[in-house]
Amino acid sequence: MCILSLLSLFGCKGYEDLTVDEFEKMLAEDNTLQLVDVRTAEEYAAGHLPGAINIDWRGNDFLDNAMTLLNKDRATMVYCRSGRRSADAAAILDGLGYKTYNMLGGYLAWTKAGKPTTTSSPETCNKTNTDMTNEMKFCQSCGMPLTEEMLGTNADGSKNEDYCIYCYKDGAFTKECTMDEMIEFCAQFVDEVNKNLPQPITKEEYIAQMKQYFPMLKRWKK
Ligand SMILES: [Zn+2]
Repeated sequence: MCILSLLSLFGCKGYEDLTVDEFEKMLAEDNTLQLVDVRTAEEYAAGHLPGAINIDWRGNDFLDNAMTLLNKDRATMVYCRSGRRSADAAAILDGLGYKTYNMLGGYLAWTKAGKPTTTSSPETCNKTNTDMTNEMKFCQSCGMPLTEEMLGTNADGSKNEDYCIYCYKDGAFTKECTMDEMIEFCAQFVDEVNKNLPQPITKEEYIAQMKQYFPMLKRWKK
C-alpha cells in the first residue's frame, strides 16, 4: 500500500545548493523561475526577496500549497532564514519532481551580502498553476497517491478525502499505530518500490525518506 506512495516521491537524485551570488544570478537570468520563501508568514511580511511567494514549511498545508502553487515545468528556488528549513523543503520538493535549488545561508546571508529585499506582496501571484497534475493528493496516513476509488470511508459510508481505504474505513483507522510503526510497516515493501526506481534504494534509505515525509502528513503531524 505504501509502495506506490513513495516511488513517485523519491525517485531522483537531489536538489542543488547555490550560494547567494549564484542564486541571485540565476534569478536574474531566468524569469520563469518560481521563487519560494518557506519561512513563516510573519518572517515573510518583515521582508523577503523581491518576487518570492510564501509557502510556510512549518505550516499545516505545505505540501498542498506547494503542489497547488508550483509548476513542475519551472525550476523552483527556495530559501528560508538560515538555510535549514529550505534544505528540508528542497529535498521534499525535489522528491516530488520539482527541479529545486536551495539558497545556502538563507535570508541572513542574502541581507548580509547587501542584496535587495522588499516588504511588498509579490507581483507573481499570477504564476499560480492550475494544472491538474499538481492537484494530486496523498493518503495522509501512509503517503500513497489517492485516487477516487482508493478513498477511505466515513462512518456514514461517504468517502473520506484524506485517507486511503487501507488506512481508514467506516470512520476509523484500520490499524492504530505510531508513525514509526507505520514507516516500519511500509518499509517491508522496499523491493516493490525498487521495481519502479531507476536506482534501487536500500530499506534504510527508504525509511529515512519516509521519516522526512511522514511528519507532514495530517495523521502524524504534531
Ligand atoms: Zn493510506
